[in-house]
Amino acid sequence: MADEWGPEKVVFAYDPDTGMRGVLVIDNTAIGPGKGGIRFAPTVTPVEVFRLARVMTWKCALAGLPFGGAKGGLMGDPTKVDRVAWMRSFAKAIKPYVPLQYVAATDMGTTELDMAVFAHEIGDVRACTGKPMEMGGIPHELGTTGYGVAIATDLTLKTLHAYGTVNLEPEKATIAIQGFGNVGSFTAKFLDELGYKIVAIADITGCIYDPEGLDIPYIMKELQVRENIEKLSGKYEVLPKEKIFEVKADVFIPAATSDVINLETAPLLIKSGTKLVIEAANIPTTAEAEKLLIQRGIWVMPDFVVNAGGVIGSYVEYKGGTEKEAFDLIKYKISRNVKLVLSMAHQNGMTPRQVALEVAKARVRRAMLLRRGAITVAREYFARQKQQYELMIPSLKEET
Ligand code: GLU
Repeated sequence: MADEWGPEKVVFAYDPDTGMRGVLVIDNTAIGPGKGGIRFAPTVTPVEVFRLARVMTWKCALAGLPFGGAKGGLMGDPTKVDRVAWMRSFAKAIKPYVPLQYVAATDMGTTELDMAVFAHEIGDVRACTGKPMEMGGIPHELGTTGYGVAIATDLTLKTLHAYGTVNLEPEKATIAIQGFGNVGSFTAKFLDELGYKIVAIADITGCIYDPEGLDIPYIMKELQVRENIEKLSGKYEVLPKEKIFEVKADVFIPAATSDVINLETAPLLIKSGTKLVIEAANIPTTAEAEKLLIQRGIWVMPDFVVNAGGVIGSYVEYKGGTEKEAFDLIKYKISRNVKLVLSMAHQNGMTPRQVALEVAKARVRRAMLLRRGAITVAREYFARQKQQYELMIPSLKEET
């Protein structure tokens, strides 16, 4: 899977004392240190970590951040293993690369507390972002990713309506969200605050649906004590989690994990009348499924455009900024990129992913050329100096 962009380094880690198995993929550092979270789940594979690292390369480049792309993966169930021991052991194993080539963060299965452990083990607060506020962090638990996704959804609906490409009035749009962890729940909260009607949500325990719109503030409050959707059965009928692909909704937001929109589920989305997919999770759509959706006139807004809120917040933490600065910068950068991607796609008859990839690749390529170029220029410069020095020698000799 390696190509001209990367990966630059793949580090496998195993610790027989704790049983920790981990992998770090540093994809590309032409623009800056590889940035990306540590995913902690039994389903994590090295190939998935590589694909996620590549998404980070494009995400940071498109957002104009001084970071490259990377990702960490811990292959175990954080609720079953000694997660503190695993995190410390992983940090110890990858320490030579942190923070010059890799700056960690949270991802699926990790929290601000894991970042506190990671930073302490490395012995440097710059080792990661998404740390607790007490350590000067801007934790992803504030909802930075979900905030960016909500901004992106709102602007995409308004822009596509203005272009006349999608026959859907934004005020009437109905939304279904798959996944109700950090990203899904905050996406729901911010979309609800913007006045959108969220008709269905699902997590690993079930799905709830109300065509009139769900009571998101109530659900957010209840879930703080009841943990999962299954336990909301007092107020809502709880359906099997797969129902989320079948309920009638104009916008589908996958906010859970990789490859959930595939050749099995994409036809269900087509049948249920989906007009727009907003990728809140990383790599939630397989390439074949995306092709199918596009053929049916469904717009797919790519992960690395719409879910960059987390890493933009990370950048503000990295340079010592405040929570307010993080949210302001997320709004500014996500809006700018959504507008850029949609207008170029509209003008050139391309998909949003094709446009976004071209812009991101051009930036990474420039940085790679500048790095290579700098070395060439330096070589030529020093070679010329040597020549000049050699030319000077006879005259020096003559003088003596
Ligand atoms: N895990 C988040 C992502 O996939 C944030 C990464 C970061 O802040 O480095 O975008």
